[in-house]
Amino acid sequence: MNDGTKAWLKTAYREYYYRGGDGIEFSDDVAAREFGYIPFGGGMVRHLSFKSKGEALAEILKQSPSSVYCSNARYEYPSRPIDEKGWLGAELIFDIDATDIPTVCKRGHDLWYCEKCHASGKLPRPPKCTKCGGPSVEFHGTCETCLDAAKGHASRVAEFLIEDFGVDPSAIRIYFSGNRGYHLHVFDSRFDPLDSAARGEIAEYMRGSSLPPSNTIAATLRRRRQTGPQGAGWTRRITGYVEEHKQNYGGTLQKLVSEGVASQRALVDSSVTTDIHRVFRLAGTLHGDTGMCKMRVESIEKFDPQEAPVVLSSKPVKLRVDFYPRFRFRHQDFGPFMKQETVELPTFAAVSILTRGLGEVV
Ligand SMILES: [Zn+2]
Ligand SMILES: [Zn+2]
Repeated sequence: MNDGTKAWLKTAYREYYYRGGDGIEFSDDVAAREFGYIPFGGGMVRHLSFKSKGEALAEILKQSPSSVYCSNARYEYPSRPIDEKGWLGAELIFDIDATDIPTVCKRGHDLWYCEKCHASGKLPRPPKCTKCGGPSVEFHGTCETCLDAAKGHASRVAEFLIEDFGVDPSAIRIYFSGNRGYHLHVFDSRFDPLDSAARGEIAEYMRGSSLPPSNTIAATLRRRRQTGPQGAGWTRRITGYVEEHKQNYGGTLQKLVSEGVASQRALVDSSVTTDIHRVFRLAGTLHGDTGMCKMRVESIEKFDPQEAPVVLSSKPVKLRVDFYPRFRFRHQDFGPFMKQETVELPTFAAVSILTRGLGEVV
């Protein structure tokens, strides 16, 4: 990324922060949070703390960085090194990313490419470029099917929290991540003191990975005389699913149980939930790869992740693109750009190419 492109990106992001800075969600206890940011061109700056929302916003405007982060933990001394911060508790957070959800369409839009010669091919990514031996990287495309799948998993996280953990719906905030997924923040103080292992148990429960094997569940169901949905939690989910689908089902009970689990689990990223010292993208700020906003979602059913979070302008910009696979914004395809060419794109679409270092502003 050359200096001209860095400056252009910074200006595009700053223009949004001047206009949309009011939408940044600082918590009331801002002085107890750790902040961090990544400037365009790289290098994470962490262990920052601000006395007030105004002070934090002023720094965001000044830096207009690629990414802004804030801890879900509260600390006595947020700017000290991790083991001297004095951890006071952290909100429970879940991360859903379309990249982790197995959808068939991925074969069509995910690929690997070589950073050096721009050869590309289907996943799995070879350790090195098969043509020139250069460094290979993965490219994850975005499509409505994947985004809908992520939405389904995020909705199920909320259902697990409400139905199985007794969380009040008003305590759950759902955010679009700014890329291909959702973050759920739980403002319920019962969870705040939980350590990493306890958070991991909740995540594994939602993933359905703490359940007995499906043949054991099927054997238990066969022994029971009752039919219809029974019990609570996963028992109710599985018995309900079996009851609903058993008529005219051709497969075994074990297979039906497996399907019941697979269709009702929420594939949260456990490593995110268990990290109690993490900094998360701050709500209302822009994603460093896409320029889309991490945005609060009021109604997940109605939310369109291809429209609302696209907050950068449509002002056209000329860029020299080395290579970029087909990508999608506002339900519109851009690219693919398979060989070096100069193109004109709306600002909101140009950002993804530039942040990946696969093009420069001309
Ligand atoms: Zn290559
Ligand atoms: Zn897809």
